Amino acid sequence: MKKTNEILILGSIGLDTIETQYGKRENLLGGSATYATIASGIFSSAVPVGIIGDDFPKDGYDIFSKFSKNINNIKIEKGKTFRWGGKYHKNGDDRDTLFTDLGVFENFDPIINEKDANASWVFLANIHPALQMNVLKQCSKNPIVISDTMNLWINTTPNELKSLINKTNILLINESEIIELTQLSELKKAARMIMSMGPEKIIVKQGSKGAQCFSKDDELSVSVYPVSKVVDPTGAGDVFGGGFVSGLAEGLSLYDSMRRGTALASFCIEDFGVNRLLDITRDELDHRINSIK
Ligand code: AMP
Repeated sequence: MKKTNEILILGSIGLDTIETQYGKRENLLGGSATYATIASGIFSSAVPVGIIGDDFPKDGYDIFSKFSKNINNIKIEKGKTFRWGGKYHKNGDDRDTLFTDLGVFENFDPIINEKDANASWVFLANIHPALQMNVLKQCSKNPIVISDTMNLWINTTPNELKSLINKTNILLINESEIIELTQLSELKKAARMIMSMGPEKIIVKQGSKGAQCFSKDDELSVSVYPVSKVVDPTGAGDVFGGGFVSGLAEGLSLYDSMRRGTALASFCIEDFGVNRLLDITRDELDHRINSIK
């Protein structure tokens, strides 16, 4: 079947309250689908899937309209938008979740428009694995599935997560999460164990150390673009994922898609929330991509 470049992106859409050593911001546009859609939408036609409450701000709506192919699969429901609060430790990497209010996400039962369910690429960004599976089941054209997750689901819904991993082609996962999931500290062994569960490739995101891709016969690593001030790391993984998928959908190699994701993530962390992602120029992006090896 011929692959098109259409990408469906599922994840959270929310309002974040974030505290880092550079300050505190409340009700920032956030959520895994938000970061991924903006990153992907810079290049390709991303179709986000999610739910928002009737308190969702207009500027958030405008951003989605700008970066998405269509927003027909974002449901607006009476009630409160998903909210998450996090506070980063002094080291800038580790963080504590202060609150998670699911709001309208609690009873979200997505129904994907028939046309959009034809997408050739599906990025299941971090959200409850049952919801990821629900959306995947509606995808009618045997898409390439890229999934992300978080430690919460490894701990609370391991069986649902394993079913999802089984249907995934490329799993994106943080270093600490893959160790937790497999109980193996050697990444190569851990990746092999996950590949035996279904995926052909595992991409381990290692924060300031870059990212590594493991597949049956190959290993690939990509460095980071060093930024002088990490103001807010929130969403970097989702931006990596959105940029990475957009590269694959355009026909870029795995390596170049990883470099694109990495370069975009370097912009994300330079300011709070999605701010820095909204006005990236093509020149500055190309400069960063080219300097990543
Ligand atoms: P990351 O920094 O890549 O882990 O992504 C942070 C984003 O994930 C924030 O914008 C949050 O709104 C969102 N988030 C936090 N907790 C959850 C959760 N349990 N499910 C879905 N999204 C979440």
